[in-house]
Amino acid sequence: MVIGKLADRLVAEGYAHLWICYTDYNGRLAGRSIPRSRFAHVAERGTNFAKANFNFTILDQQVPDPRFTADTGDVLAIPDSEAVYPLPFHPGTALSFAMLHEEDGSLWDGCPRAALQRAVAALAEAGLSARIGLEPEFYLFEDEDLTPATRAGMYTIAGLDAQAAFIEQLTQHLVEMDITLEQIGKEYGPGQYEATATPADPVTAVDRYLVFRLAVRSIARAHGLRASFMPKPDATLAGCGLHVHVSLRDLATGADRTADPDHPSGLSAEARSFLAGWLQHADALTGLGAPTANSAKRLQPASWAPAHVCWGIGNRAALVRVPGLGARARLEFRSGDNTCNPYLYVAGLIWAGLDGLRRGLDPGPPAEADVGRLPATELAARGVRFLPRSTEAALDALDADTALAEGLGPLLHQEFLRVKRAELAMYRIQVTPWERAAYFEAP
Ligand code: GLU
Ligand code: MG
Repeated sequence: MVIGKLADRLVAEGYAHLWICYTDYNGRLAGRSIPRSRFAHVAERGTNFAKANFNFTILDQQVPDPRFTADTGDVLAIPDSEAVYPLPFHPGTALSFAMLHEEDGSLWDGCPRAALQRAVAALAEAGLSARIGLEPEFYLFEDEDLTPATRAGMYTIAGLDAQAAFIEQLTQHLVEMDITLEQIGKEYGPGQYEATATPADPVTAVDRYLVFRLAVRSIARAHGLRASFMPKPDATLAGCGLHVHVSLRDLATGADRTADPDHPSGLSAEARSFLAGWLQHADALTGLGAPTANSAKRLQPASWAPAHVCWGIGNRAALVRVPGLGARARLEFRSGDNTCNPYLYVAGLIWAGLDGLRRGLDPGPPAEADVGRLPATELAARGVRFLPRSTEAALDALDADTALAEGLGPLLHQEFLRVKRAELAMYRIQVTPWERAAYFEAP
């Protein structure tokens, strides 16, 4: 990067504010707004944040056993000049994604975005690149009481019609940010929608997803609505997933290396091993992708979210779905949700896939049943097991996973777990309205 170039560009384009962003281990976009007079300074030097910030839960509570404390210094968030987005819903403001650096200028081991870049580099060493398509689901509510923005039915045009003003503005603003959607539709739940962005390289795909999420929330608010990406806003509502679609390409030629029309699965030997790596690390990946107290409530049998470890072709009950054959041959991992840190989650998917590739693992035959509806005996006969039934168990699996620990690096692996476990410990002692309804006058 030419120093000062980013600042000159922003000034020339008339921006008055630059939001410099990173993600914390809760997956939140964090950062601060820099006024025009400081653009040149921060483009070169970055802006500093306490390392301690990475040891806080999503409720802004410091973990009880922090590694980073008031005296452990700062990281510098230096904007990536290639990852700058205008924010049309805040005219005059641009957003840039930063890498987190140590004060000596080296990349910080705790930076989630740098961790994904490292995974991409490891994939490149295997001669591959990945195209990533993220598929977030979210609700539009009128209020926090979960009154749906529309009662229109699943996949109906009425559902689009009811929120056309929101959808048009969102789509228009995304185009202005150079983010193209493949589709946006009315999902299953009342007020639930889903969007898919055009696939991109992993870091760009995650950057764009984060901008998308910000835009959805901001534009919904402008329309008097509340957007929620919560995995399971209510026991009676369909969950919100963050499915990740991956296709492998040849690094040198860009040719697809996912499909093989001569194999019954439609997948190349490499894609099959990559997929087998996902199955091998399924529990740990679920800890990484679905890491909150609410996450496990989504992963129920027969809910369209996965509850079992298996793969299938055109099978939406499976953890890994291959949408179809030929041009639709790609790998979709389905247990993650929007409460993950998406850089770490996609990095984990790459490391798990690479482990499958290196070990030449075989995924076995595809599941050809709605596994969420099979009796336990039938599941056992087919060798299909449950995903972790609790977030504790999923995080324990992540803790025990040496390939992911090595891939993410010990600092990120352990600090992510520390933050998520602290949050879960808080959750464990809460008493819910359901418990009062059941036990207040019981037995
Ligand atoms: N809502 C489902 C989930 O939580 C996914 C539905 C679908 O798009 O297949 O994963
Ligand atoms: Mg969906």
